[in-house]
Amino acid sequence: MAVLAAAQLLDELMGRHRNVAPNEKVKSTDWEDPEFCKFFMVKFCPHDLFVNTRADLGPCIKTHDEEAKKLFQDAKKNHHKKIQYQEDFIRFCSSMINEVEKKIIKGRQRLALSGKNVLAVTNPQQAEKNQEQINILNERINELEKEAEEAGTDGNVEQAQGLMKLCDQLKEERDALKKAELGHLNLTAQLAVEQEKQMEVCEVCGAFLIVGDAQQRIDDHLMGKQHMGYMRLKKALEEIIEVVKEAKEPKKYIRDKERERFNDRDTRRDREKDKVNARERDRSRSELGEKDRRMDTERKNKERDREREQVRDVELRDGKRERDRERERRHRSDREDRHRHHHHHHSHRHRH
Ligand SMILES: [Zn+2]
Ligand SMILES: [Zn+2]
Repeated sequence: MAVLAAAQLLDELMGRHRNVAPNEKVKSTDWEDPEFCKFFMVKFCPHDLFVNTRADLGPCIKTHDEEAKKLFQDAKKNHHKKIQYQEDFIRFCSSMINEVEKKIIKGRQRLALSGKNVLAVTNPQQAEKNQEQINILNERINELEKEAEEAGTDGNVEQAQGLMKLCDQLKEERDALKKAELGHLNLTAQLAVEQEKQMEVCEVCGAFLIVGDAQQRIDDHLMGKQHMGYMRLKKALEEIIEVVKEAKEPKKYIRDKERERFNDRDTRRDREKDKVNARERDRSRSELGEKDRRMDTERKNKERDREREQVRDVELRDGKRERDRERERRHRSDREDRHRHHHHHHSHRHRH
């Protein structure tokens, strides 16, 4: 294997024909030659991703050749063998992604259960609940085992296997709960559990991470071979799936893309609508403020009116007094006039 790896390295550095003498005729490269690694030509070889990590796939036994890769890339989109290679790549990467996804789910379950452990340890009521849960799980496990047995004797192998898998999951859950009960007695277990509580599962590679870890360690993880490897796998998988879709059904692919764009536009429009709604909400809120202000001015106006009324009352009163005085004055002068008349009359008569 080491020799093979060294040969590969030399191939990559100096070209595949490094051993060919200058006067020897070089056989032209054919990418369909089975000696070439399909994965390497499609995108990259997964064997190169996890070298010296726990996910190491070991060295690839095929040749990684840049020239063949270029020829492959230049081949027509709908070349049936090209599509076949791409589909092989999709299958291989999918199975790797599925594996890591399972690992992620398992890791999460583990952390969730250890979270429950802490509760069980600190809370006797929770411990009681756990015991109940264990009993329920035991019942369910027995039922499932019976069902699986029946399915097996009926020849439904797949169903039986599915049931057994479910059964195993429930058993795991039950065992974790049992451990939680033990944790009640075991201080070291409690500490371990509490340490585990501060962990999370990386959504990309399934590694356990410490929440709030130092930036340097976070960076080391993100740049690590395992994390980067799964990242590249996921991206490449998405990309090649699209490439194959387009190659196999170009018309449908274009239709789908257009629909996607349309939906994107719809969601954009919805988002725009949301924005408008938010603006309207703001406006009605400020209208409310406006209303408050209006009520305020109304109150002020009323106050002013009341003041005016009071003033008018005073004015009216004053006016009345004024008028009264006026009337008195007039009355007095009338009397005086009459008096004068009278005198006049008198004098006149006297003159007669
Ligand atoms: Zn390879
Ligand atoms: Zn990761």
